[in-house]
Amino acid sequence: MTTHGRNAILVINAGSSSLKFSVFREAVSGDVVVAVNGQISGIGTEPRFEAKDTAKRLLADRSWAASEQADRKTLLRFLLDWIEEHLDGARLIAAGHRVVHGGVRFSHPVLLTDAVMEELDGLVPLAPLHQPHNLAAIRALAEAHPELPQVACFDTAFHRGQPWQSGAFAIPRELTEEGIRRYGFHGLSYEFIARRLPEIAPALGDARVVVAHLGSGASMCAMHGGRSVDSTMGFTALDGLPMGTRCGTIDPGVLIYLMRNKGMSADAIEKLLYNRSGLLGVSGVSNDMRVLLESGDAHAEEAVELFCFRIARETGALAASMGGIDAFVFTAGIGERSAPIRERVGARLGWLGIDIDPAANAANETTISSPASRIPVHVIPTDEERMIAVHTRNALAAKR
Ligand code: ADP
Repeated sequence: MTTHGRNAILVINAGSSSLKFSVFREAVSGDVVVAVNGQISGIGTEPRFEAKDTAKRLLADRSWAASEQADRKTLLRFLLDWIEEHLDGARLIAAGHRVVHGGVRFSHPVLLTDAVMEELDGLVPLAPLHQPHNLAAIRALAEAHPELPQVACFDTAFHRGQPWQSGAFAIPRELTEEGIRRYGFHGLSYEFIARRLPEIAPALGDARVVVAHLGSGASMCAMHGGRSVDSTMGFTALDGLPMGTRCGTIDPGVLIYLMRNKGMSADAIEKLLYNRSGLLGVSGVSNDMRVLLESGDAHAEEAVELFCFRIARETGALAASMGGIDAFVFTAGIGERSAPIRERVGARLGWLGIDIDPAANAANETTISSPASRIPVHVIPTDEERMIAVHTRNALAAKR
């Protein structure tokens, strides 16, 4: 590992059985630069640790047998020891975590204390599939390395400044006040795009931009002047666009029907809507867009078409939220790499004056709209990890 700067920052994105990590170093310019990426998979069964440098060369690969019962704390201690050994004299100054839910209160990243952790525990019911794993990693790291400052960076925070009507459901007010409201997610990705876009297109600093984050989880954001105005994800990360295995927007009457007429429990509905729906459910083939595009199967084609249709429909809604649209941005796995999807979405948005340049689109260029297009269409690779590293460094600097 080459670590030119003095300080290093560990970025963690923890899931149920895996934990992705990156190590950033602080460059002399004050910028943060990624040095290592890796993951610990198989947590709870047979863990495996892998680390790669920025050229994707394998730096480490180690496994634990089930009999070794390596728990989160053991694995995180191993990770920290490994990082310290590979830092070339730099010092690990903090860990930054992606935390899915910051509720109503956290509109910025926060330095973690016991009191903050207690508040974040209280948000577990709002994101039961993600929040507990995010918090477990923070606690395990605190046990393994108590003196290392830790910072929580929230997927919800970027959307906290939205106008109230973007966040409200039309339900009795006391339920809204209890927290049953729209939060929006993928905020770290949108924040990264908000900062990157003016570098690519300075004229768009104050613009009304629709950003489509199309990965295995997918959402869209209406951004005006770099701030979130509206988003397609709501109370949970289930709302909005159809995703790899998640249904996206659904008539709530369907849930009542499933409970009453099919006797489905909350757990069964949760599995259906999170794991068996979306592209997988509609196609019956795969949740992976690459597989669907190459499949030739009629249902796979319908899944792709539904995905593109809903992106176009949401674009209309988000543009209405901002009173217009000045630019469109594609990002994340599908948005950054799939020319056919961008082409199909672009064709559906012809009524907005969008015109995609086929050659630029096929080459994944930064600007894929033609000169004749009424508004520019950009492809911008997102970098949530980098955003977390920047926030973590800033939160620490603010403390000093
Ligand atoms: P995550 O939401 O898990 O962070 P990513 O943003 O990395 O996911 O996106 C992963 C998804 O991107 C994959 O499930 C796959 O469907 C899609 N994808 C990646 N590369 C391509 C490609 N070249 N063409 C179409 N889809 C792609």
